[in-house]
Amino acid sequence: MSFFPPSAEPLVDVQRVLVVAAHPDDVDFGAAGTVAHWVDAGIEVAYLLVTRGDAGGFDDTPREQMPLLREAEQRAAAKAVGVTQVDFLDGYADGTLTPSLDLRRDLTRVVRRYRPDRILTNSPLRRWERIAGPGHPDHLAVGEAVTCVIYPDARNPFAFPGLLRDEGLEPWVVREVWFQGGPDPDHVVDITATYPRKLAALAAHATQTSHEDVPARLRPFLETVARNAGLPDGSLAEAFTVLRTA
Ligand SMILES: [Zn+2]
Repeated sequence: MSFFPPSAEPLVDVQRVLVVAAHPDDVDFGAAGTVAHWVDAGIEVAYLLVTRGDAGGFDDTPREQMPLLREAEQRAAAKAVGVTQVDFLDGYADGTLTPSLDLRRDLTRVVRRYRPDRILTNSPLRRWERIAGPGHPDHLAVGEAVTCVIYPDARNPFAFPGLLRDEGLEPWVVREVWFQGGPDPDHVVDITATYPRKLAALAAHATQTSHEDVPARLRPFLETVARNAGLPDGSLAEAFTVLRTA
């Protein structure tokens, strides 16, 4: 199937959200305004980055510096929206991701430790009308791997049995998933109030964003999302697909 069902109404009793993204900056382009609202509402939010974005950048920064720079940029960007827990998986290079059993096991470990009610992640489905950006194969791989972790890996005690046997990590049921960057997102969040913090988060990704005028590109897009959702003129919005997973 190449499309999502209509979004569910988001859960109202969420205490913890785990954001899982392929690269530093994914969450900030797609969801930082929404994350800022969650933080304001007292929800605990943690970020998990699968790679350090070592294939990114646009200038002659020495390549071996890129992962360290981008890790620091993501931590600063998280801070701009009030998120302080930022972790990175080791062993996964930018541009090489597949929804492998290794990745599923490593993600299951994090999910069972953090026990999130909600996960926000990259879409496992392509938007065929736009091949670049959201359609990066790393995004699709992370979206697929996270979906496999939500069901069945994290909740099945017999999946990756060493996690329970050797690490004492009990099964966990994630109740809801939010996908960013997928086809026809239909759950819209008004981010007019948190847009300055989203811009600050994006500015923190200097290796990715300092060569362009991000607000000039982003604002019309966010305005269109808001207008299409019937929000008042001048509003800005991010859009997602929200699915119940329990
Ligand atoms: Zn990305």
